[in-house]
Amino acid sequence: MDKIGPFAEVIVALNARRTDRVFHYAVPVEFQGQVAFGVRVIVPFGGRRLTGYVTGFGFPESTVKVKEIAGIIDPEPVFTTELLGLARWMAENYLCSTAEALQRILSPRLLVKGAREVKQFYPALPENELRKALSLMVRVPKQVAALEKALACPGLTRKELAAEAEVSTSVIDVLTRKGLLKSSVVKVPRHTARFYHSNVKTKEITLNAEQEKALSQVAGAIREGTFNAFLLHGVTGSGKTEVYLRAIAVALEVGCQAVTLVPEISLTPQMVEMFRERFDEQVAVLHSGLPARERFDEWQRIREGRAPVVLGTRSAIFAPLTRPGLFVIDEEHESSYKQDDHLRYHAREIALKRAQLAGATVLLGSATPSLESQFKTTTGGPYQLIKLGKRVDERPLPPVRVVDMRREVKEGNLGIFSRPLIASINRHLQSKGQVLLFLNRRGFSTFVMCHECGLVLKCLRCDISLTYHQDGLLRCHYCNYHIKSPQLCPNCGGHNIRHFGAGTQKVEAEVGKFFPGARILRMDSDSTSRKGSHAQIINAFHDRQADILIGTQMIAKGLDFPGVTLVGVINADITLHMPDFRAAERTFQLLTQVAGRAGRGKLPGEVLVQTYNPDHYCITVAAAHDSERFYQNEIPVRRSLGYPPFSHLARLLFTHEDEEEVKKGATQVRYLIEKIVSGDDRGISLLGPAPAPLNKIKDRYRWQLVIKASRRDLLRDVIKESLSRLERDRAFLKPIINIDINPQGML
Ligand SMILES: [Zn+2]
Ligand SMILES: [Zn+2]
Repeated sequence: MDKIGPFAEVIVALNARRTDRVFHYAVPVEFQGQVAFGVRVIVPFGGRRLTGYVTGFGFPESTVKVKEIAGIIDPEPVFTTELLGLARWMAENYLCSTAEALQRILSPRLLVKGAREVKQFYPALPENELRKALSLMVRVPKQVAALEKALACPGLTRKELAAEAEVSTSVIDVLTRKGLLKSSVVKVPRHTARFYHSNVKTKEITLNAEQEKALSQVAGAIREGTFNAFLLHGVTGSGKTEVYLRAIAVALEVGCQAVTLVPEISLTPQMVEMFRERFDEQVAVLHSGLPARERFDEWQRIREGRAPVVLGTRSAIFAPLTRPGLFVIDEEHESSYKQDDHLRYHAREIALKRAQLAGATVLLGSATPSLESQFKTTTGGPYQLIKLGKRVDERPLPPVRVVDMRREVKEGNLGIFSRPLIASINRHLQSKGQVLLFLNRRGFSTFVMCHECGLVLKCLRCDISLTYHQDGLLRCHYCNYHIKSPQLCPNCGGHNIRHFGAGTQKVEAEVGKFFPGARILRMDSDSTSRKGSHAQIINAFHDRQADILIGTQMIAKGLDFPGVTLVGVINADITLHMPDFRAAERTFQLLTQVAGRAGRGKLPGEVLVQTYNPDHYCITVAAAHDSERFYQNEIPVRRSLGYPPFSHLARLLFTHEDEEEVKKGATQVRYLIEKIVSGDDRGISLLGPAPAPLNKIKDRYRWQLVIKASRRDLLRDVIKESLSRLERDRAFLKPIINIDINPQGML
């Protein structure tokens, strides 16, 4: 493909969704040399001026109607062939347009204010002509070297080109006079890939044998420079981060860049610190909390190669790397890697695709890997499994005690705290240990449970908990099965069947009552809404300014408090009864993560889990720290019900102000899809439509239709087909449809 040509191929950002077409535009003389692959331009389109992405050069079938490019947005390319490939893949797999995907990849919007002007050099002839000229230039090897370099890396400055070709700048001047090189002035310097000198501080941490082996496997793959994916399954406290850091150092050594994703940056100040300590100025931190200006600066440092080590949250996966060598995803099972509005991509999938396109290595790490990822390590799967079964310094995993709350109720204790938990907290406070109280909360809790036997009613077809509605009905959010909420427990006949849950503030008040001398900190979304307050609370607790920290999901992840000797889980049941087929998996992961916060220092730790379902396998195996057994229990359940990893799901979410319209629209789309799949057995089944668990948000009602398919391409084809039929006669459908392929949650 010629990089410079007379007609640019442009993807136009049309508002009409999911349509992709490449149009030809003529490059006017004044933009010659500036319109290059990867640059955004402004083009006339149907009487409007729209943004276009230059994706190549070629000739249209007829030049009669070809219009001219009207303006240039970027003085330098903002996407590479790798990123265009990624955008095309996203369009195909998330059912959006390539332009939309590019928009997603390129945001935050790239500013060009305050840019300086730089002269860039390009070959002045098409490659084949230049090759002819080169073959005749046997007596001027320095000029040949410079031209070869200009061909390989167009757009270098005079100095850069001379340095890269190892010649003096006068050689560049001679070539320009000869008409073999030409230059153009742009506003921002374009830096190409370069080798980084690994300015790595080595720390005197000795790896244990397991870590050593893990590192050598990953390092080998990085050096090889081909696509490889690893799942690093290490128990909490087994030193996964040290393996990441050393693998990143290897990537730098071979001249590549590395991206590390963490679920939430505000929760991992310790991680940021470790990266800075190790890689210094070479670290760029990217997350959505950064002010636009700072984000742009970091973006720029990455593009220019000054920051080859990127640490960030989900969207950092689109970092503008020129030579990606390693993608690390810490806590790979976390659902925050899935974008949950608009273009619903999964950062893990993006990492895998980018790595495939660039020949890079992916390292997924977790103490509780997602079932899907574990499944991919089994025979013939694309991931290689690496295990870290020991904690560093041979610290033991803390013993976990399960407290049966049904017994507490039977014996007259209706409070939040069981008697064993109260006794343990007292004991640990007396011996000057710190206590972490974990409150499982997901923003809403609308299931009803028998407090005497722990029963929660489930949909027999979908195996998810039924959700309580104000009309007194218990409803399945997948298939819309519903029954009247019973007055008596159908299992034990008990009267104590009611709502379940307690807020952090209530727990704080109770703690104050039971342990009047203790210093208490609370961390939840209310107490941390101010910027920086996460870090303040974490630091205060770390410095032992408090004895008890009460918190939600936020305190479960990745934190390292050496002073914590007791972790108490107030209510293990809430996630277990989420209306979601992953409820057991999420509960297991959460309990394991929370338990992992105990005993990370010199003192041994202890964990207490309060639950009304002490016999559920996800509780018993979490208590035994046995993730293998969890996998063996859960996989047959998924298989028998046809849930991932044995199928692919799509959720179509319908929203509108009028609930009747939502119902009607969703039902019509169901009929349409039934018609499309009827007759041929394509392994597709439909659930619903049913009201979404969060039935109304911002005055809009929400209903969902779930499509299950044996293969992802089948799923995609059916949705594509139904959408194009809908677009043809759109008029009847009033609700907005949002498509989520393989959703991580369906609230
Ligand atoms: Zn009961
Ligand atoms: Zn159901």
